[in-house]
Amino acid sequence: MQFRAAVMHAANAPLTIESVETAPLEPDDVLVRIGAASICHTDLEVLSGEIRYPMPMVLGHEASGTVEAVGASVADVRPGDRVVLSWNPHCGHCYYCENNQPILCETYVKGRADGAHFDGTHRLKWKGQRLNTLMYIGGFSEYCIVPSQSAIKVPDDMPFDCGCLIGCGVMTGVGAATRVARVTWGSSVLVLGCGAIGLSAIQGARMAGAGVILAVDFDDRKLAVAREVGATHVCNAGKEDPLAAVKSLSAGRGADYVFEAAGNEKAFRASIEGCRPGGQVVWLGKVNVDREVSFRWGTLMGERHIVRSSYGGARPSEDFPSLSRAYLKGDLKLDHLVTARIPLERINEGFDLLREGKAIRTVIDFDA
Ligand SMILES: [Zn+2]
Ligand SMILES: [Zn+2]
Repeated sequence: MQFRAAVMHAANAPLTIESVETAPLEPDDVLVRIGAASICHTDLEVLSGEIRYPMPMVLGHEASGTVEAVGASVADVRPGDRVVLSWNPHCGHCYYCENNQPILCETYVKGRADGAHFDGTHRLKWKGQRLNTLMYIGGFSEYCIVPSQSAIKVPDDMPFDCGCLIGCGVMTGVGAATRVARVTWGSSVLVLGCGAIGLSAIQGARMAGAGVILAVDFDDRKLAVAREVGATHVCNAGKEDPLAAVKSLSAGRGADYVFEAAGNEKAFRASIEGCRPGGQVVWLGKVNVDREVSFRWGTLMGERHIVRSSYGGARPSEDFPSLSRAYLKGDLKLDHLVTARIPLERINEGFDLLREGKAIRTVIDFDA
């Protein structure tokens, strides 16, 4: 079968729309027709060469679509099902899986670095040569083939454009509050950075019953969205001091929970400084892997619980349907996160919006 995909050939070069080919389905494969896929910061890290993968590659790991066909042994989904894709298939029996840390699964980590399918082989070809996929998905494509555990069935009325966000950013942010930190009712929460992940952490904290949620960003438009999705207070860090703001809301102690979702050294430092002694800090953002981040030791004194999380403690088969239902009920606000919808042909413009910091999420709409 042949279809169109946005192919990355080299770092910092535009993606090109190419005709690609798939191999026949293996027993555990699910063929998904993509409805929508959004551009996440990790895609940009690969495109900018900060994370290196074998080329050529199809990027995209935040995607939703419809099951088109399934391999012989697939039982959980069938053609016609609507799915959100998970980028963390895991083997279930390695050291990390046995320790209930599927995000570190040894098979997952190795195959991801190879740009392979979860069984270690490849499914796509471009001009006769092997075509790699990012994080077992490769969602910037009309179709993708994923292992069955990556295709998570969601309600039929879950729209693709909001559904795709659940697959990475929303899961990471909401899960950081509900699964990783387990925010408690009435507590105080500081969220640094109001991109898709920060806005999702705000919503996870709101749904968990946090009493005070202070959102920090440099962009007043993002702070306005933060208010709409659940922040009780906002602070533009370019105009006022976020640490003074959090202290004034917490009797001078600092927040019970801090979520860092800005991805820069200053925010990592502020995450520690804005947390009360004995409180909990969850790091969600990233800086370049070769960069160093420093802290004044005094800010670490008096105990802090610091966690680095990359997928919000995701349990996709449970969380994706429940996040979808929360959206359909109106509890989880996802339309606010979609700031642009573009067809696949304009994907490079979507990356420009992300580089310029203008987008919350740009969604590639395959029906456009
Ligand atoms: Zn992502
Ligand atoms: Zn494993």
